[in-house]
Amino acid sequence: MAVYHADALVIRSREFGESDRVLTLFSREMGKLQAVAKGVRKPKSRQRAGAQLFTYADFLIHKGKTMDTVSQCSPRESFPHLWYDLDRSFAATGIAELLDVSTIPAQPNQELFGLTLTCLFLIEQFDPALVLSSYALRLMTLLGYRPRLGECAECGVSISGERLVFSSEAGGTLCGDCRESYSGRWIRAGSVAFMRQLIRADITKIDRLRWNAWMQQEILETLRLFVEHKFERPLKSWRMGSLGADDLGRQ
Ligand SMILES: [Zn+2]
Repeated sequence: MAVYHADALVIRSREFGESDRVLTLFSREMGKLQAVAKGVRKPKSRQRAGAQLFTYADFLIHKGKTMDTVSQCSPRESFPHLWYDLDRSFAATGIAELLDVSTIPAQPNQELFGLTLTCLFLIEQFDPALVLSSYALRLMTLLGYRPRLGECAECGVSISGERLVFSSEAGGTLCGDCRESYSGRWIRAGSVAFMRQLIRADITKIDRLRWNAWMQQEILETLRLFVEHKFERPLKSWRMGSLGADDLGRQ
């Protein structure tokens, strides 16, 4: 029977059968894949740790006819601090869900893999919402959907003013002339400028950037709507907890 190694992160783990779990892994070399971890819900299972969400491990996987099966797992990092704090858990879950929603199986993206791993490490130390926002912007950029910020997504003119309009449909901010043709929502110029910094800054130093409660809410909500529009899937974890769940009103 064929076996292969996967240097991968667990981005989803759901119960399956009586004692198994189906893992969605994002691997460095193969991109997203699924494998069954057998018996891991039994209390004495030695593979238990490897079936936990966010675990980064070297998986040895048996290729099956219908489903592949995890036969060995050597954890490299389990991110224990993500579980001690609700905001950190929500942000890490937000990253895992965003990665799952935005990718299709068997499409490797090493840069995205590296970014995801880095951000999980950063969530353990930095403001989790800051890391999540920066992750979402960078993921969209890596996948070719970088939002146009501060210039019109339709005609390209640079936009000034205190309040701008962001349109998920158009893929960014819109000038006064172009906003008629799209649906969108108000966003303050400060939030737009901050999003540009979240893309450009060295990610390991984003904790030096300062934002406030309304910017955080506005940015998370804008990004959630943008991603949901692009991939036509709801980001459930983003709608829970304190991650920008408040309705700021639509245009
Ligand atoms: Zn325009």
